[in-house]
Amino acid sequence: MVKIGMIGGSGFDDPDFLTDVRSIKKGTPFGSLSADLIVGKAGEIETVIMLRHGKGHRIMPSAINYRANIWAMKEVGVTHIIATSACGSLREEIEPGHLVFPDQFIDWTRTRKSTFHEGDQVVHMAMADPFCERLRSILIETCITEGIIHHPRGTVVTIEGPRFSTRAESRMFRMLGGDIINMSTVPEAVLAREAGICYAVAAMSTDYDTWHDSEAPVTWEMIAETMNNNVENVKKIFFRSLSKITYEQCDCRKAIESATV
Ligand SMILES: [Zn+2]
Repeated sequence: MVKIGMIGGSGFDDPDFLTDVRSIKKGTPFGSLSADLIVGKAGEIETVIMLRHGKGHRIMPSAINYRANIWAMKEVGVTHIIATSACGSLREEIEPGHLVFPDQFIDWTRTRKSTFHEGDQVVHMAMADPFCERLRSILIETCITEGIIHHPRGTVVTIEGPRFSTRAESRMFRMLGGDIINMSTVPEAVLAREAGICYAVAAMSTDYDTWHDSEAPVTWEMIAETMNNNVENVKKIFFRSLSKITYEQCDCRKAIESATV
């Protein structure tokens, strides 16, 4: 059976598209979640929402307990995660307000725990294609049907934060092949793969980061404004995509089997 998880930020703490809403408190072997899980039904489909930055957006990206968040979603039976994320654009053509469905990431984080497996269990996850291709294509198809401007692929650079990049760093990420930049996709995508959950990101471009000489460098205020203006689009894509998701024996489910030494 399909159970859809959504990891979101601002705009999702009051999920008006859910009925039978209740919240679930969960403990995990890795500590506390960002917030209680919000559980409900989107139409007929069981849906679980996790507020990545906690209620009221108060947890810094480096301080998010990604392992607890993904573990809890796995425990309540989530089979697919659609993650939303604000991102900076590293390309002229990815304008503020555009959506991007990345197919690759570059991990520029430094201090995060990115595996559930510690101690004497060695795991090397294959990560050549880090996102679920089936789930990505459903989201892209929905954007096409709804006429929402989007970019069907791209490389997301995840930085440690919480500060934004210098101009030199931003230019370097462009040279490395980055298309967008954020602070949350890694290790979230990696942990979801370990947990056997299909995972894709709907990233919303909010600004031109700091490489763009003719645009004002990014501020938090800028991000919040673009997010608020576009959160309805993200909700629409999420809601309209749900009924197309089916339980299939996707490769994501058994990736861990070939990764364990
Ligand atoms: Zn998958």
